[in-house]
Amino acid sequence: MQVKENELLVSHSTFKLGGQARFFAVAEKLSDIPNIVELAEQSRLPLFVLGGGSNCIFGDGLIDKFVVQMNLLGKEILSGRDTEEASSIFVRIASGEILDEVVAWSIDQGLSGLEALSAIPGSVGATPVQNVGAYGSEIKDTLVEVQTYDLKEKRVQVISNEECNFGYRSSIFNTTEKGRYVILSVVLKLSRLPASSPHYPAVRKYFEEKGIKQPSSLEIRNAVTDIRWSKLPKPSEIPNVGSFFKNPIVDKDVAEKIKEKFDDFVIFPTDYGKVKVPAGFLIEKAGLKGKQFGNFAVYDKNALVITHNGKGTCEELLLVVQGIIDTVKGEFGITLEQEPAIIY
Ligand SMILES: Cc1cc2nc3c(=O)[nH]c(=O)nc-3n(C[C@H](O)[C@H](O)[C@H](O)COP(=O)(O)OP(=O)(O)OC[C@H]3O[C@@H](n4cnc5c(N)ncnc54)[C@H](O)[C@@H]3O)c2cc1C
Repeated sequence: MQVKENELLVSHSTFKLGGQARFFAVAEKLSDIPNIVELAEQSRLPLFVLGGGSNCIFGDGLIDKFVVQMNLLGKEILSGRDTEEASSIFVRIASGEILDEVVAWSIDQGLSGLEALSAIPGSVGATPVQNVGAYGSEIKDTLVEVQTYDLKEKRVQVISNEECNFGYRSSIFNTTEKGRYVILSVVLKLSRLPASSPHYPAVRKYFEEKGIKQPSSLEIRNAVTDIRWSKLPKPSEIPNVGSFFKNPIVDKDVAEKIKEKFDDFVIFPTDYGKVKVPAGFLIEKAGLKGKQFGNFAVYDKNALVITHNGKGTCEELLLVVQGIIDTVKGEFGITLEQEPAIIY
């Protein structure tokens, strides 16, 4: 295992921003983790666990952290593990696997459950952190348990779905226990039964237009992939981290008030009480969609996305972000919360 000093981070984030990491190592096997933890301790630096960098923004200049990029690979069907339903099957996926490749693999195996998460960039290890989700599906729906290395207890620990305390874009990994666990692998429960299509209007319209009544997992994957890339910039072409803000969870009466003003304002019920409202709609109606702010812009096809021309600084970005938050707050009284982790 090679440890690099002052590693440039620009190429390790899909936002193409940031300075250098004091130390940087790639974990290729389980036994690398305790070694890296020891090295980080010897250098008296906090460890930062990196996946594909599609939800991370690095600060400018030298970042005094020991960055470990997770490249643990492997996917297996756990045929020996009993399930209460004959139609279900458990799979174990190592954290460094690319989520979209795992979705494709699961469909190849005749398994459903992950198809709506197609085309989300990044690694499997990051999925429990913010309970990755799209089109009404979240990783919590299939996740059974997470195998972790506990930096506090210095041992491998298994954390159950319930213990992850999943919420909308949240879990213990980005709230109460932030920074405590290195995620090594996840166990998912997938199904041999046909997938059910997401009830999202864009997906329904897609299949209506194609005359498909009962889409297969593969057809759902293709639909979701096509729809996503029609309104999201590909990070390889335009640096971005997907949604920059979480969709706010607000009291129903707050949402109803906005709906009185805008007929096309969509309110989503949640499992978490309250209702979820589209942050992109609020940013657009605040007049910010397509607006350029120096080296950054609010994407013209999707106001939830901030794009970067590759020449900006994190300092400049944070001012732009605060400007957007203040404008939306002034217009609707709702405070937007950013989704990506910002690492200094
Ligand atoms: C175009 C685009 C579209 C996107 N669409 C969606 C979407 O629809 N839904 C959605 O939820 N997200 C979406 N995202 C955000 C992003 O893809 C997800 O958050 C993804 O899970 C991040 O994976 P990553 O490996 O790149 O994580 P990173 O960006 O490397 O890390 C993200 C966070 O997870 C932590 N982390 C990563 N790996 C581990 C590990 N093994 N152990 C412990 N902590 C870890 C990091 O410390 C960091 O806090 C999108 C991003 C882009 C660029």
